[in-house]
Amino acid sequence: MFCLRCDTKMKRGALKGVLADFCPSCKSFWLDKGELERMRSGKGKDSYEIKKEAHKEKKYEPVVGVKGACPRCFAKLSRYSEGSAKLDKCTRCEGMFFDRGELDTCLKEKQTSFLQRIIGMFDGG
Ligand SMILES: [Zn+2]
Ligand SMILES: [Zn+2]
Repeated sequence: MFCLRCDTKMKRGALKGVLADFCPSCKSFWLDKGELERMRSGKGKDSYEIKKEAHKEKKYEPVVGVKGACPRCFAKLSRYSEGSAKLDKCTRCEGMFFDRGELDTCLKEKQTSFLQRIIGMFDGG
């Protein structure tokens, strides 16, 4: 599949226990539905499962000439806010596209709020 920002071929790889697509050119990420949650919860798959999954990518009919369409299924993307990050989310397969640094922002914000909850427990006393 190709990066929707710069048309570079994206690389599949394991990231924090989930299968992600990474653009080596503009450093953006594509995550399928549910993978962000899985990363956050730390309930990643083992590398054997990820390897198995990498070979059975769903095939969609390519639509030529749709600008800014989902790189996975070619449906329309909609803007989506996750914390302070602005993502593109597919209206059909619900995959999410993260521009450079946005994935980090999302993961870090979750960790911070978790920490703040813990600290809050001690503060509230
Ligand atoms: Zn790119
Ligand atoms: Zn899609």
